[in-house]
Amino acid sequence: MESFVFKTVIFVFIIVCGFIRMPFMKKCKRNHNVKSVNSIFEKTKVFIAWLGMCLVPFLYVFTHLFDKFDIYLPLYVRIIASIGFAANALFFYYIHKQLSDNWSPVLEIKERHKLITDGIYKYIRHPMYTQSWLWVILQGIVAANWFVLVFGIVTWGFMYFTRVFNEEKMMIEEFGEEYLNYMQHTGRLLPKLF
Ligand code: SAH
Repeated sequence: MESFVFKTVIFVFIIVCGFIRMPFMKKCKRNHNVKSVNSIFEKTKVFIAWLGMCLVPFLYVFTHLFDKFDIYLPLYVRIIASIGFAANALFFYYIHKQLSDNWSPVLEIKERHKLITDGIYKYIRHPMYTQSWLWVILQGIVAANWFVLVFGIVTWGFMYFTRVFNEEKMMIEEFGEEYLNYMQHTGRLLPKLF
């Protein structure tokens, strides 16, 4: 019963995030890009991250392939992680709304690309990546499964570390001083404290 509930939490979270992303994916296809960085490598990385954030959790939900990696976690830990996981879906929606037409799954500069520096972007340069780190960590805790946790962290981590510096380089090339100034008072994943 317990396992059924937590599997449902993971399944619903991924489906909800899929629905949240869909209209932004459509918008992204409609808005022409004027610059695209390393497109094939970027798409491959998106696919690799998708394996850890969607496919493996789905296999965990619907098969017994990863049962041998189950770990014991107290019930309250998994309940708290589930609440955080649900809140993370709201965060996912909020960030998409904020980035709006400027969002893309790969590194791109759109026609009429606007640098967003308000809302959560006033404090953090990459809130969507903060959200993804929380996704893979909370998902592994809700599942109480080593494989789901480690595979999610490794696949997303690969995507993050091979992307974030190129993304900042692209933004500096596009927005120059404006982005450099923006970097001064924002943190990459968490607000800058000093
Ligand atoms: N790294 C950001 C955005 C991820 S989506 C985050 O974690 O929230 C990736 C696209 O967002 C990139 O192609 C880039 O063009 C765009 N982007 C990144 N930061 C942006 C910003 N502050 N304003 C507008 N577009 C941004």
